[in-house]
Amino acid sequence: MSLENKTVQFSDVQKEVDEVILALKRRHIACRYFEDAEALLEYISKAVKGKVVGVGDSITFEEIELYDLLKVHSGRYLNKYDERLTKIEKRKLYRENFSAEVFFSGINALSMSGKIYNLDGNGSRVAPIIYGPDKVFLICGTNKLCRTDEEAVLRVRQKAAPMDAVRLGKKTPCAITGKCVDCRSKERICNYMTIVEGQFDPDRIEVILLKGSYGY
Ligand code: SF4
Repeated sequence: MSLENKTVQFSDVQKEVDEVILALKRRHIACRYFEDAEALLEYISKAVKGKVVGVGDSITFEEIELYDLLKVHSGRYLNKYDERLTKIEKRKLYRENFSAEVFFSGINALSMSGKIYNLDGNGSRVAPIIYGPDKVFLICGTNKLCRTDEEAVLRVRQKAAPMDAVRLGKKTPCAITGKCVDCRSKERICNYMTIVEGQFDPDRIEVILLKGSYGY
């Protein structure tokens, strides 16, 4: 069976959404579901008002124009995309993300058991998800829902990682063939794969599910 056939189809998405919200709740992780990006952005614009906000890379955020919203509505936006930043300043900004009041990241795969999977090359995206910021929003299209944990890993390794390697122009086997071979490349983009399985503070990480296909 192909990876596409294994991921959740939109016809039954409401049932799957209800199921994953419950699974996340049992792991003490809040989850909200939005049927359109406009309502999601309205919710976020209120949540970041006056707050120091950091972000990780996310194609989903580009697609829903979240980065633009944060520039306008947050108190202080830690803008990693500011082209004027030197390498040292960017490193400093990544460290500042740990003391941000709000941090945003996407999700590479979300299993129906409520486990959250993310890949990262240098760890600057996944580390603040785990520790530091008071509040973490993880925004995820319903296309990232996977029926099992095994399918989630497959999605991350065989779909998200190769596509990201292509986007970033990496010289890795997956960027050429579209398949992961568990390489030892110096440019390996998946040095860290995190699985969030729960949290102490039920209000800290909040998953925002958005109906539709966003990112990869
Ligand atoms: S291990 Fe190598 S081939 Fe596999 S996804 Fe990561 S960078 Fe690509």
